[in-house]
Amino acid sequence: MVNAMLNVQGLTVTYGGIQAVKDLSFHVQPRELVCLIGCNGAGKTSTMNAIAGLLPFQAHAATFKGVIDLTALPAHQRLSNGLALVPEGRGIFTRMSVLENLELGANVRLQKGCSQAEIRVDLDKMLALFPRIKERLKQLAGTLSGGEQQMLAMARALMGKPDMLLDEPSMGLAPLMVEKIFEVIQQVHHEGMTILLVEQNAHIALQLASRAYVMDSGLIDYEGKACELINDPRIRETYLGQIPQ
Ligand code: ATP
Repeated sequence: MVNAMLNVQGLTVTYGGIQAVKDLSFHVQPRELVCLIGCNGAGKTSTMNAIAGLLPFQAHAATFKGVIDLTALPAHQRLSNGLALVPEGRGIFTRMSVLENLELGANVRLQKGCSQAEIRVDLDKMLALFPRIKERLKQLAGTLSGGEQQMLAMARALMGKPDMLLDEPSMGLAPLMVEKIFEVIQQVHHEGMTILLVEQNAHIALQLASRAYVMDSGLIDYEGKACELINDPRIRETYLGQIPQ
């Protein structure tokens, strides 16, 4: 796919002898918000973790920004190349303070010569986006509620100013928290961030995204514009729980 921010062709993820993701191909264009939806066990998290470098995978091709070969890039170099993951289960440093977590998120930019003053400006911006985090800067991250930890994980990823965010946000969160997190996703997307979103709640995801891939048993079942998928009777019945008229 020419000029794609992320282009994945023939991705396979295997656990033991079992293929959880089977020869999957998809792409995300710059500034696009694309979602991966599907039932439990469809292979969404495995796909995300493979791209993020957390799982071994095979692929015919997996490129980021056209030239970076993800099949050869060590996981720890993803972030410095502009690809950040907000993992399911949050992955924050629980024994560090909220502020320390945020500062760590910006480390990758300090290494590239970004000034402390610039980072301070972004920290203030992040705290304006997440006022609940602002009130808890000195608190140990592990003592935050689940929803607050999810916000911190996202804020930490954004502090690195990535070119693309891989986000798996609403797992097990209360509706109000989900709403807040999706507000922020929408906002950073409007500011130009490219986002690949994994979401179990197909309803929310299809309202937010411009395009979607619908996964089932490790394969892509449907793909297309979110506005079309949301009106497709097969999607409505299977993924949105709506009985066709
Ligand atoms: P959910 O929406 O429930 O999180 P998912 O679409 O993200 O599901 P995955 O978590 O990627 O799906 O799981 C895909 C398949 O791979 C499932 O059948 C799951 O049991 C299996 N699987 C995931 N992780 C492992 C693992 N570490 N070892 C063995 N099998 C695994």
